[in-house]
Amino acid sequence: MQLIDKYTTADLLTAADQHILYTTNRPEVMMERGEGMYLWDTEGKCYLDFIGGWAVTCLGHAPKAIEKALTKQAGQLINASPAFYNVPMVSFAKMLTEMTCFDKVFFTTSGSEANEGAIKLARKHGQRSLDGAYEIITTVNSFHGRTLATMSATGKDYWEPLFAPKVSGFIHVPFNDIEAIKAAITDKTCAIMLEPVQGEGGVNVADPIYVKAVRKICDEHNILLIFDEVQTGMGRTGKMFAYEHYDIEPDIMTLAKGIGGGYPLSAMLTKSVYNIFDAGDQGGTYTAQPLGMAVGMAVLETIVKEKIVENTVAQSAYLMKCLNEMEADYGIKSVRGMGLLIAFDLPEPKGAEVVGACLEKGLLINSPKPATIRLMPPLIVTREAIDSMLKTMTEVLASVLK
Ligand code: PMP
Repeated sequence: MQLIDKYTTADLLTAADQHILYTTNRPEVMMERGEGMYLWDTEGKCYLDFIGGWAVTCLGHAPKAIEKALTKQAGQLINASPAFYNVPMVSFAKMLTEMTCFDKVFFTTSGSEANEGAIKLARKHGQRSLDGAYEIITTVNSFHGRTLATMSATGKDYWEPLFAPKVSGFIHVPFNDIEAIKAAITDKTCAIMLEPVQGEGGVNVADPIYVKAVRKICDEHNILLIFDEVQTGMGRTGKMFAYEHYDIEPDIMTLAKGIGGGYPLSAMLTKSVYNIFDAGDQGGTYTAQPLGMAVGMAVLETIVKEKIVENTVAQSAYLMKCLNEMEADYGIKSVRGMGLLIAFDLPEPKGAEVVGACLEKGLLINSPKPATIRLMPPLIVTREAIDSMLKTMTEVLASVLK
């Protein structure tokens, strides 16, 4: 039963209001279709997408590669149960390990779940090799997910007291601060967990000196370095994985978002020495589900074949240059980011107004903080799409910031 066949947009919005359990105010828009850089709602209005499904749709909307992979795999095997290996699972694991510094992969379906796996692996390492150490140091302003443990790992003050108590054992220190990390380390520490670029925290890029120092500290104490690359992985920062910018190897890397190009898929990668999970320690019904594996492979093959990372680098340079040139005209500041994960600050906390006015004009952008605008388009973005986005956004900035 597709309600769209019989009902108006207003009916659908009323039904959504009645039946969808969600507390955030969503705009009165009913998305129906996507293609490339664009989404269309049920009124036929077209939106240029610079949110990219929240840094997810790296190949754009409805890419043929995903459609083909899903159709083929669905006709062959959808679920063999987590009790068995399946063919696409092994092929995809081989592909991922061949292009990273890791040799073991564990597949799940969301970023939070991959991070839960990383947290549990780090705690098990603490139990086995560090006298029961269990504390994990994460950073202020970080975002690691919305399950209880990942929400507790997250370094934001959005924690809702009604969900208390938090999962204990997470220590938050300021980002890019080597001394703060050194001071937080105790004999209870088993890992340090970092986003190489804090995404939800407003696009804050980790300093190479900081990352190298953190790697050294982890080595000295035999504690694990976890890179949460849920948002930065799969080409987003202009390298396939953000750790490659830093000339270090993390012990664990988590991936989600771009890895499935929109299909729910995530992975935790690590090295053989940390192959310490026993059967039943982690995972669930949908671990390494064949449809996701087939999609993941198709996405990765397309990223490589169509030189998507190269496009990310080129378009990032152009977009950064244009934004830097806008600083003088609109009072925007601190243009920053890596690849196509870019943000800038507004002179006033009018992010929500800017986002709302852009939506009206058919442009999707994001404001992770009241005075910050974030852009994370599909990685297939073109110069023409950037010009079109900038035209709309500057009109909006001119009217909202007056
Ligand atoms: N880690 C990071 C860095 C993220 O940006 C996100 C999602 N915004 C998550 C974890 C959680 O991923 P998911 O929403 O798929 O659970």
